[in-house]
Amino acid sequence: ATPMSIMTGTGKGAQHGILIRNAEALETLEKIDTLVVDKTGTLTMGKPDLVAVTPMAGIDEAEFLSAVAAVEMGSEHPLAHAIVEGARGRGISPASATALASTTGEGVEATVGERRVAIGNEKLMHSVGITDEDWLASAREGREQGRTVMFVAFDGQPAGLLAVADPIKPTSAQAIAALHQRGIRVVMLTGDSRATAEAVAREMGIDEVHANVSPEDKHRRIEELKAEGRRVAMAGDGINDAPALAAADVGIAMGTGTDVAIESAGVTLVRGDLTGVVQAIVLSRATMRNIR
Ligand code: ADP
Ligand code: MG
Repeated sequence: ATPMSIMTGTGKGAQHGILIRNAEALETLEKIDTLVVDKTGTLTMGKPDLVAVTPMAGIDEAEFLSAVAAVEMGSEHPLAHAIVEGARGRGISPASATALASTTGEGVEATVGERRVAIGNEKLMHSVGITDEDWLASAREGREQGRTVMFVAFDGQPAGLLAVADPIKPTSAQAIAALHQRGIRVVMLTGDSRATAEAVAREMGIDEVHANVSPEDKHRRIEELKAEGRRVAMAGDGINDAPALAAADVGIAMGTGTDVAIESAGVTLVRGDLTGVVQAIVLSRATMRNIR
C-alpha cells in the first residue's frame, strides 16, 4: 500500500469518528469475514437498569434489597452499579457488608449482619451449595425477554431473583443488517446466560451466539474462529475484552468504553456505535481498491 493512500484513508476515517491506528489495521479490515461483538456495552447501551426485584415468599423486600445493595457496593461490575442505584431509587440505603469475595464472571458474596449473601449466576449458586434446579430454572422467563437475571442466596439457600435490563443501542440492528449485506458473519460473545444472549441475538439477527463465556475465554474463542480459517474483527468495550481485541485480526474498541480496550485495539469508534464498523470496512475496501 502506498503511504499516501493510507493517510488519505485514515484521514477520512478520523473525520467520521473512526480512528485507525496504522496501515496494517486499515489493510486487514478489508479482508474481514467475521465480526465478533461483545454484548454488554457494545450491542447494548451498557447502562443496565434494575427492573425486577423478587424475594422469595417470607423475605421482606426492603431487607432483601438493602442486603443485596450492601454486597454489590463492593463490586465494580456494571451489574453491581445497576443494583445499587436501583435500590437507592426505591428508597433503600445499603446495609454494611464485610468479607467480600468476588468471582469474575460469576458474581459476588459478602457477609451482611449474620448472613452470608451471594449474588450471581448458576455457577456461583452451585458453589454455595444450591442444588434446587427448579429454582435455577425460574430465571428463564426473564432471560427470554433479554434480561440479565441473577440469583440471590442467603446462607446457601434460595432468597430471590434480580433482573436487569440493558437497552439495545438503536443502531445495532441496522449495522448488523449492513454487515450481512457485505457478506460478514456476526458472532456474539457474552458472559451472560444462553437464554438472555439468544433473546438479544434473535432481535438483532445475529448469526452465532457464544454464551457463558468467561472473561479469560473470550480471547480463546477468537483464536478458535481464526483457526477455522475466518478473518476476525472483534468489537468490544470492556477491560475483559482487551485480550480478545488483541487476539483478533483487527480489534475495534468502542470509544465510550475503557482505556484498556482502546489501547488494545487497531480501530476506535469514537461514538461507540457499530455502524462505525460498517463505515470502517467500506473505507478500507475503497482505500485498498484505490491502491491496486
Ligand atoms: P458480561 O460479559 O456480560 O460483562 P461477566 O462475565 O462479567 O458478563 O459476568 C457473567 C455473569 O456473572 C453475569 O451475567 C452475572 O450473572 C454474573 N455476575 C458477574 N458479576 C456480578 C455481580 N457483581 N453481581 C451479580 N452478578 C454478577
Ligand atoms: Mg462489555
